Amino acid sequence: MPDTLTSSSSWFAAAEALQPETIALRRAIHEEPEIGLDTPKTLAKVKAALAGLPLRLKEGRSCTGMVAILEGARPGRTVLLRGDMDALPMPEDTSLDFRSKIQGAMHACGHDAHTSMLVSAAKILCARRDQIAGRILFMFQPGEEGYHGARFMLEDGLLDDPAPDACFALHITPNAPPGVVSAKAGTMMASADKFGITVTGKGGHASMPHLATDPMPVACEIVTALNAFVTRRIDAFDPAIVTVAQINAGTTDNVIAENVRIKGTIRAVSEQTRKAVHEGIKRVAQNIARAHLCEADVEIEPGFPVTVNDRPAVTMAGVAIRNELGQGAWRLQNTPVMGAEDFSYVLQRFPGAMMFIGVCPEGEDFRAACPCHSNKMMLNEAAMAHGVAVHCAIAEHFLANGLPA
Ligand SMILES: [Zn+2]
Ligand SMILES: [Zn+2]
Repeated sequence: MPDTLTSSSSWFAAAEALQPETIALRRAIHEEPEIGLDTPKTLAKVKAALAGLPLRLKEGRSCTGMVAILEGARPGRTVLLRGDMDALPMPEDTSLDFRSKIQGAMHACGHDAHTSMLVSAAKILCARRDQIAGRILFMFQPGEEGYHGARFMLEDGLLDDPAPDACFALHITPNAPPGVVSAKAGTMMASADKFGITVTGKGGHASMPHLATDPMPVACEIVTALNAFVTRRIDAFDPAIVTVAQINAGTTDNVIAENVRIKGTIRAVSEQTRKAVHEGIKRVAQNIARAHLCEADVEIEPGFPVTVNDRPAVTMAGVAIRNELGQGAWRLQNTPVMGAEDFSYVLQRFPGAMMFIGVCPEGEDFRAACPCHSNKMMLNEAAMAHGVAVHCAIAEHFLANGLPA
């Protein structure tokens, strides 16, 4: 290993020295993306990269999640750092040499970079084990993109014994300047639930609607009423989004269908509003249907909960990042992001913070760069050194000081 890994120089210098390895691992993961809870090839790459380090590895039964544990030279607090490993089911349309070689799969959310940054942080922190009082858990997680990987890892007990005292995760975004980290205290990201409503009437001849019970106008009324419900019943300062994204019914022009199916998404930024929306959708749909002698069957499929950052953890991360990378490297966000994250499950159990790190490609305007989940998403690999340094600085700062009061 290069000398800088064990010297007392900054975490960033150590991360810069490791850049060739960080980039190589990120590219190897990028060209062989895996989707969902089963990411064995990615996990094998992680294990190979960590081989020989003083880490204890813990794996679960439900998925390919792994926690690598570094015991410092002296006892102390326990901090968790997370990197997610899964890709998205979509084609890649970049011209990169290392673009996806797997048809229909792409690392369009930057989880390849998250995994590689966490591996490099583990290498650097292992090299400074003698100076560490406490313990660091490196959480390598599959199935972030809607598969509840973090929840499965919690259910498998991978975050028990030792349990973390604080947890931190970094997510890249091409829509911020390279190396700039941002977060906010409290709600950081929204919850994301799916809903489906089946309105059932009685089929019949389209010329004689009074002999049938037509669910079509009833479904339309429900869609309109859901919009009224959200604007009239939900606090504008604790907002929710209900979007009807799909309506299916009917087979031809002269038949009244028996059913109409409605599907959509629910986003909220507090668990209280999320619950109110679940109840409201049922109440509105069922009562409107009843008024017209139809029935409405409402199904809600819970997705990720609201991601809530702990205020002291955000304050601490800000201090650690500014000390390490300068004032300009940290920005407090004013508003949450309406996307969702399954690190929310971890933050329901333990205090911590989910943060974004800018990776806008060189020469591009970060406001216009292809975002996460774009088939053309690209990231600035130079900013991965910042991400590695951020992981290390946060771990060091938390183990030394804990969370501020
Ligand atoms: Zn994503
Ligand atoms: Zn992501």
